[in-house]
Amino acid sequence: MTNETLAQPKPRVTRLAWPPLLWIGALHAGALLAFNPAYFTWQALAVCVFLHWVSGGIGICMTYHRLLTHRSFAVRPRWLEYALTIVGCTASEGGAIHWVADHRRHHAHSDEETDVHSPVHGGFGWAHMFWWMTPDITSVHTPAYHARWAPDLVKDPVHVWLDRYFIVFPLLLGAALYAIGGMPFLVWGFFVRSVLVLHTTWLVNSATHVWGYRSHETRDSSTNLWWVALLTYGEGWHNNHHAFQTSARHGLRWWEVDMTYIAIKAMSWVGLSHAIKLPKIRATAGATGEASLSRARSASKKPRRRRKPKSVVGAAK
Ligand SMILES: [Zn+2]
Ligand SMILES: [Zn+2]
Repeated sequence: MTNETLAQPKPRVTRLAWPPLLWIGALHAGALLAFNPAYFTWQALAVCVFLHWVSGGIGICMTYHRLLTHRSFAVRPRWLEYALTIVGCTASEGGAIHWVADHRRHHAHSDEETDVHSPVHGGFGWAHMFWWMTPDITSVHTPAYHARWAPDLVKDPVHVWLDRYFIVFPLLLGAALYAIGGMPFLVWGFFVRSVLVLHTTWLVNSATHVWGYRSHETRDSSTNLWWVALLTYGEGWHNNHHAFQTSARHGLRWWEVDMTYIAIKAMSWVGLSHAIKLPKIRATAGATGEASLSRARSASKKPRRRRKPKSVVGAAK
């Protein structure tokens, strides 16, 4: 028996994660106000789109995922990492430490029974959003769990503080939006934008483990899916990411547009990012990694393993 199994209690489908359920439920309820035409302005829509990129693209895709989870690049000065983490907090996906822990566990056990959000075991809905509602089945965010999966972050008192009080930042952003632009900014810039960021992030766990093409033979069901990549600023090249987990660049073919990698490169031009990791391609492969990609063309298009969802998981929906 591994340490992890010892640390995780037996699944009990009756326990719900009430704090995120209430918070995310309230965000969805608030987003319904968008159906009132009185709250629509073109300015508010522009704020929604812009903040979707800031909180989802920079905060989650670049900072929570590629910087903090995989350390695929580094930033300087040090305080910039904390500032970017605060941007990630405004996406309403919780603090960085538990996000990082869950995602590292996903990579360590992709599509195995201990994967926190596998569509192979739970179906599309489970992988998309039901998984985080039943922590007993996926991950109880205890100090031991954080220490097991995010030991680097739990040693940093600033990250620990930000993880504990992350809720302050979306609330402050919501208040600022209301102060600046009234109800239209609050509805579109806060509620609608937050719901869109949540669902586009979740599509990476659900859609890009179900639909799309596979460029690389990985041990999981990960796929590359162009429309998820567009909505998530490059995260939809998820099969590439599973194949080269520490690479800062997820879009590997020239047409696999990766906005997050472009942002990381742009930061390096002004000295804000460095130590950018890229896939290890053989010297003869050329700068675009054609050797790796040509091998990929013969890879199977369908995930190798498809098993029926576990009944215990289905019961939780
Ligand atoms: Zn990852
Ligand atoms: Zn994955």
